[in-house]
Order: sequence, then structure tokens, then C-alpha cells
Amino acid sequence: MQIENYLIRKSSLEKLFNNLVGNGKTVYAPKAGEKRILFEEVKAFSEITDNYLVTTNAAKSVVFPRTEKLFSYKKTKETTEIIDASTETVSEVVLWGTRPCDAAAFIPLTDTFNGDYPDVLYNNRRGKVYLLSFSCTTCDEYCFCTSVNGGPGNTAGSDILFTKLSTGDYLAEAITEKGKQLVADNQSLFEAAPAEAKESNLAKVKTYFNQDEIQAKLQNLFENPVWDEKSRACLGCGSCAFVCPVCSCFDIQDEKHGSKGSRLRCWDSCGFGLFTLHTSGHNPRGTQGARWRQRILHKFLYMPNKSKVAGCVGCGRCSRVCPADINILETVTAL
Ligand code: SF4
Ligand code: SF4
Repeated sequence: MQIENYLIRKSSLEKLFNNLVGNGKTVYAPKAGEKRILFEEVKAFSEITDNYLVTTNAAKSVVFPRTEKLFSYKKTKETTEIIDASTETVSEVVLWGTRPCDAAAFIPLTDTFNGDYPDVLYNNRRGKVYLLSFSCTTCDEYCFCTSVNGGPGNTAGSDILFTKLSTGDYLAEAITEKGKQLVADNQSLFEAAPAEAKESNLAKVKTYFNQDEIQAKLQNLFENPVWDEKSRACLGCGSCAFVCPVCSCFDIQDEKHGSKGSRLRCWDSCGFGLFTLHTSGHNPRGTQGARWRQRILHKFLYMPNKSKVAGCVGCGRCSRVCPADINILETVTAL
């Protein structure tokens, strides 16, 4: 699809935001808290911070909530009424301020929820999301998007990608039909494309490895001391999975209150010992090393084998939050 380039003035971003909210869209954006920058719902432009590398949490909860009702039921003596959650109306959501890695993460995430059969709940939400991303102008030692076929100005996954120019104004790349429609709906805010090239304004992200090479190597590394070595400090807390924009493991819970109840889908993690524990007491992934291996193989081997896209976009969130200082990049580069 042909990308359309425009200029948008810094002062026009607030007008664009107000138009989106005025049109009934719910906007999630990076918001500065006491200790963290989180993707949260914002009502006013002034609540948004642009002083962030990446948010601590991922934007995935908008399409894959931490806990989500699949259906509920009500029983009477004669009947059981089932209320299917997938028929509920979903509102339009704008994710404002996603980074290119966050936007790219929606590609493998959507693949996962459309693997064996299309997940209606997920697809309903995903269809209503607009991704308005901002290119990275800075990076840190945890970033490795360029090792997994991404980049600080990568357009994959975004509807519009904004890149800050030396003037303080922005290059706006309208990538998808949704993005182009949004530009058309707000035409007075967008001007002719700037002359300045985008590349000189992007962060310089070091490339540590090549995704295709690591994928090929991992075919033969199921038995390797690195799994135990690199996971020895792991507490099995699951933080790495919960902040990851691609991780999508879930568990199903049934809740019953008298004659009513519901079935819930809740985030889970392959890093938890309980995740694969059988009723018999046997656990096929009985050690943290085996669980760490699964995490790496799933992201860098099984997912790209199945859908051609890795299950990691190199955002570095998992390594930044890990209380045991386990760094996914160290494991992959060691391999
Ligand atoms: S965040 Fe760190 S300690 Fe927690 S499960 Fe992940 S690797 Fe283990
Ligand atoms: S595995 Fe870590 S670096 Fe890769 S996408 Fe998930 S949080 Fe980001």
C-alpha cells in the first residue's frame, strides 16, 4: 500500500486529539505517573507526556484485556440463559503514542488470535483500534528492534506514523486506509509533505543479532546449558510476559455466584510453574530453565516458523521490569 506523506504542525496535534475525542473515540496514550509512564485512557491532551522511551505496560490490554468475560449465564428451574460477550458493542479506540515496536507487535498478536480459528472478541476490538504511532528519537541499552526486522521509524502495524523533525513539527505518514481516512477527516490540519528526510531524526538502535540466523540456530539448541544458566535467578513472577506486547498466554476461569456465573479469560504466563502442571502432578516444564527455553523458542522459532513473524519486537520491556535482572537480549546473543 502506498504511504502518503504530510506535514503536521506541533500545534495541530492537540487539535487532532480534540477532534478524535469529539468524534466519540476513546483515546489511550502515555501518561506520566509517579514512577512509571503507562498507556492509559486520557480525556485531555495535557494528560499526555511525550517524555518517554516506551511505556512500562504494553498497549495489548486494549484488545486483549487482563481479565475478560467470554460469556455469562443465568439459571432458572426451567432454563439456562447464555449471554455471549462477543455480541457486545465495542467502541472505537485510538492508541496515541505507540512506538513502532508496539504497533508491529499487533501483527503477531493478531496472528495468534486467528490461528486455529478467528477469535471474535479479539477481532471485534482490533477492528476498532487506530494506531497513531510516534517514531523513536532515543533508545536505550534494552532496545533491539533492529535485530528482529523492526526499526525506530518502522511503519509496519501503524495507521499513521509521526516523526518529529528538527523544526519541532512532524512528518505524518498515512500508511493504511484507516490512517488515510483519518487524515481526510482532518484535512485542514495536514499540509504538503516536508522536505526534511525522516531518517536523520531517528534513534540509532544497535543491531545485536539477525532474527533469521537465530531462528535457524534454534532448531538445534533444545538441549543447551544456556537455558539453565540464564534463568537461574528467575523468580517465575510473570512480569516479563505481562508487560510484553506480544505475549498472549491465557487461562480460563469459571466464576459462579448462586445461579449466575461467567467464564473468564485471564492473562497467564509460560514462566509460571503452574502453567503446565498436570492434574497428575507431572509437569513437562518442571524447571525455570525449561520455561525460559519455551519462552525463547516460542518467540524466536515456533512463531516465525508458523506465521513468518517473530514473537518479539525488541521493545526491551521484559528486561527493564525483571526484578531478577534477567535480560532476554543476553540470552539470545549468548545463543
Ligand atoms: S520478569 Fe524476570 S524473574 Fe519474573 S518471570 Fe520474567 S524472567 Fe523470571
Ligand atoms: S519478549 Fe521482551 S523485548 Fe520481546 S517484545 Fe516481549 S517484552 Fe519486548
